[in-house]
Amino acid sequence: MKRSEVDRDKLSPMMRQYLDIKDNYEDTIIFFRLGDFYEMFFEDAVTASRELELTLTGRNAGLEERVPMCGIPFKAYEGYLDKLIDKGYKVAIVEQLEDPKTTKDMVKRDVIQVVTKGTRLDSSINAKDNNFIASIYDLEYCYVLSYSDVSTGEVYVLLEDGDKDALLREVLRHNFSEIIVNNKIDREFVNTLRTTYHLNVTIYDELYNGSDYSYVYKNLKDVREETGIKHLLAYLTNTKKGDLSHLTEAKVENTKEHLLIDNNTKRNLELTETVRLRERTYSLLWLLDKNKTAMGSRLLKQNIESPLTNKKEIERRYDFVDKLRVEFILRDDLKNNLNEVYDLERLASRITYGNLNARDLLQLKNSLKVLPDIKRILKELNYYKEIEDFPEVYSLLDKSIVEDPPITLREGHLIKDGYNDELDELRKVSSGSKDFILELEQKEKERTGIKNLKVGFNKVFGYYIEVSKGQVKELKDEYEYERKQTLSNCERFITPLLKEKENIILGAEEKIINLEYDLFMKIRETIKRYIHPLQKTANIIAEVDMLQAFSTISDMYNFVRPTITDNHSVKIIASRHPVIEEVMAKEDKKYVSNDIIMDEDTSILLITGPNMAGKSTYMRQFAIIVIMAQIGCFVPAKSCSMPIFDKIFTRIGASDDLVSGESTFMVEMKEANLALENATKNSLILFDELGRGTATYDGMSLAQAILEYIHDKIGAKTMFSTHYHELTSLSNSLKHLQNVHVSAVEEDGVLTFLHKIKLGAVDKSYGLNVASLAHLPSSLIKRAEEILNVYESEGVKEREFTQTSLFTLDEEEAKVEEKESEIEEMVKECDPLNMTPINALNFLYELKEKIRNEEK
Ligand code: ADP
Ligand code: MG
Repeated sequence: MKRSEVDRDKLSPMMRQYLDIKDNYEDTIIFFRLGDFYEMFFEDAVTASRELELTLTGRNAGLEERVPMCGIPFKAYEGYLDKLIDKGYKVAIVEQLEDPKTTKDMVKRDVIQVVTKGTRLDSSINAKDNNFIASIYDLEYCYVLSYSDVSTGEVYVLLEDGDKDALLREVLRHNFSEIIVNNKIDREFVNTLRTTYHLNVTIYDELYNGSDYSYVYKNLKDVREETGIKHLLAYLTNTKKGDLSHLTEAKVENTKEHLLIDNNTKRNLELTETVRLRERTYSLLWLLDKNKTAMGSRLLKQNIESPLTNKKEIERRYDFVDKLRVEFILRDDLKNNLNEVYDLERLASRITYGNLNARDLLQLKNSLKVLPDIKRILKELNYYKEIEDFPEVYSLLDKSIVEDPPITLREGHLIKDGYNDELDELRKVSSGSKDFILELEQKEKERTGIKNLKVGFNKVFGYYIEVSKGQVKELKDEYEYERKQTLSNCERFITPLLKEKENIILGAEEKIINLEYDLFMKIRETIKRYIHPLQKTANIIAEVDMLQAFSTISDMYNFVRPTITDNHSVKIIASRHPVIEEVMAKEDKKYVSNDIIMDEDTSILLITGPNMAGKSTYMRQFAIIVIMAQIGCFVPAKSCSMPIFDKIFTRIGASDDLVSGESTFMVEMKEANLALENATKNSLILFDELGRGTATYDGMSLAQAILEYIHDKIGAKTMFSTHYHELTSLSNSLKHLQNVHVSAVEEDGVLTFLHKIKLGAVDKSYGLNVASLAHLPSSLIKRAEEILNVYESEGVKEREFTQTSLFTLDEEEAKVEEKESEIEEMVKECDPLNMTPINALNFLYELKEKIRNEEK
């Protein structure tokens, strides 16, 4: 039965109430509170029963057929909710807004919040990751991208004047959990986001017009940015509904202030997760994350994805990292104190919005306790920012919240004795009466002479006096025992005196629970006033934590402070790839360090060398060192001086774009194009075996043309590895190109990789040696050697490609060409790299056949 086909006049009032609410939440599953359950109806019930493996039942709602229904217990709904959110659904929670006991009419119900992937605040979000929701607002001549992490309050905005591709790149860079877009936006773009990149996209058109959160955008200078923020705010306030005053003033992101790393590069370099397993372990983030706080870890991740470009700022970080290395005793002191600091950013969001409990306030208290120490240490270290330490908040919490409170706020035991007179008084009454009851047992034993008489309590019957069946006859009327409950071997009684005390105790206890709750809420209101300064302090602590991690790790691994030059020369002596080095160290292997030297005049390093020699690693190493340097960390080298880079582009490895399903070669060319279009003289380009994905001559021609283009038109620092040895002769014509190679030594046919980068071009490709390392059958390798010998003895000379020779042969060469035998031509044309052994064998027979024919 479909919701749209129902005759609403026939429906029961409750089902009508349901449909009235549902009408406003078409694309959202409604959890409809009925007593102890959240129920779902109609299509929602069908969806939820399928996704959550619940039994689909029905409910009479005044129609002939029963309405499809399924439900989950309200006490254990969170697991179900998480599952639906993870699968990309949105859930609106409809609560009873009145107490069913006190209303005669139908209970009022309404949506209290909509839970969505990008705005959830529960414990299911990872402490070390941000959870960003974004708005894309299409103004028809430019896009506004604003985003926020509701769990920490951060809000950012940036303008994207470029085309849709640029917007897409920017969107992919950020890993948004959820995106809202206004109606104007191109539907094809929305489809790409949804189907190709599996992003959670909602079309939403409202703009915030309230005043509570106008402070978020009031300092923005550009009205376009303001519009974007209002779009985001409208969605947040409409879904969260609760107090969001922990949202901070929007920060304008200026892409020029950051080293631009596109999504492919981030993936290729394994900055925050590994390519294959998509895990944090063995990523750069994993190595560097020696933070003590979750705030520090999140900030580090943001920095790795978006390093700095401002020399002053970077050097200020170096200075502090350096200072911490020298003052290592203070650093240890700082670390110990940071250890005590909880996630202040997320605590702040819980204090303003919803689900705060007393344990959270205890965490806040314990965090505040160490702030004076941190403040002192930062002063001693001359840190350029100062934190606040909130003594009045600390003392309020210290006076009020007990040390081991329960999770819920409705059981009491939250507030310390001595904080509130009325509470103390009630507690005295309650415990006085409890003492009285304890004494009562003794008195009643004496009065009745029944030795095994007991006073007890249970939730249903309250206080009682228990007498065993055999003794009941001893009870006299004058004792005023009144029977309450009969069990198999005993009876339970109440007396007027006991009843009286019970009323006092229960009355006091109810009052205590309510009073404690009220006091708790008042404390929370007081603390709310400190939220924004508290967030500022949290930000500084996150930064200090990150820098202490840099300093710690620099000591652990012998990193060195980089020198930032104002020219374009790069000189990094004995550099290492920090992650691979660490992984190898665990296996007791030693990483071979290498210099990276590109003077003012060198823009391109052309890297040759056999497979497995270490070309790709060398290239990645450079990019990783650049990123580490530009987040303010020291770098794995003996010494390092280099300029600041503005963008990094990579084409590394044979990773097909699994996400969008494009072929390797297409992806290669797209990535190359992105670099060629956007790179500047200050950029870093890494092209790893570009052109591999197509036929040899195509690939080689493209590679050469691309090298020439970078050389003549861009001048970016470029590392270009290739297996086309012919390209090495380009150094004759391109004066900013330099050949280097990774050496290997061959002894008795056994190849040893030295992983050492040396000047000049390599002379041999060692392809067969690598094949034998890969354990191809030895008979096959032998056969390949025979074939290779044929080529070499036939005198197949390597052709030299100069800048022009690739495409046009001059006349003289053309004449020489004519004289070449057909066989020579055949050999020249064949492409051993792309031949199967069988093809090679056939080819050889063919050659022999030709020679025999010619001899005839
Ligand atoms: P290529 O790109 O030349 O085929 P890679 O860069 O993929 O080679 O490196 C091949 C292997 O050699 C890697 O798995 C790595 O562990 C090892 N390797 C690379 N460079 C070094 C080095 N400098 N020191 C030690 N091992 C290295
Ligand atoms: Mg490689």
